[in-house]
Amino acid sequence: MLDSVHVVSHPLVQHKLTRLRQSETMPPEFRVLMRDVGMLLLYEAMRDFPLREMAIETPLGSFAAPTLDNLDICLAPVLRAGLGMVESMLDLIPFAKVAHVGLYRDPHTLEAVEYFFKAPAGFSAYNVFIVDPMLATGNSAVAAIERIKKRSVTRIRLISLLAAPEGIASVQAKHPDVPIYTASIDANLDAHAYIVPGLGDAGDRLYGTG
Ligand code: URA
Repeated sequence: MLDSVHVVSHPLVQHKLTRLRQSETMPPEFRVLMRDVGMLLLYEAMRDFPLREMAIETPLGSFAAPTLDNLDICLAPVLRAGLGMVESMLDLIPFAKVAHVGLYRDPHTLEAVEYFFKAPAGFSAYNVFIVDPMLATGNSAVAAIERIKKRSVTRIRLISLLAAPEGIASVQAKHPDVPIYTASIDANLDAHAYIVPGLGDAGDRLYGTG
């Protein structure tokens, strides 16, 4: 069941996640931590990306050096909170494109409602990393995956800072081909579908709107 879920247990990730969780962490520090963890999660999510050899010249001679085989990578942040992780991911892979996915959670039905979608030309050829920081009910992640698959993308991975078992189960039931990379699987959801212990509302904590 959990084969396609990768929990990044690196001490740096866990240390920064703990600081993100703490109520006392204010937006300026929260933003820096989200950036850091975003970059580290992407690093792990690309661990098995194929390499090819490229003939290069070093100052000391010729060498067949490894390079990424496919640079068609697209980051797909789910607005708003996904924006908190995507800039540092672009620092790591500046050649990546970005597809913005605007979804909000209807407070009554908890369903994801789309209000914006903009992807690069030739989108179907890309390796797409959906960046949905809080995998709670899974509704927004599933909605993002569906919208991206509708555009004939076949290689999709999901990066979530935190995941609830309910959200993982939902993604795995509907999209078992999409691996999930996260820093933690938390205990459960509360009555308002917030992750417990979680870190609260990621968008509010990023942008001071709480
Ligand atoms: N979205 C958030 O920002 N936090 C949660 O705990 C769940 C969804």
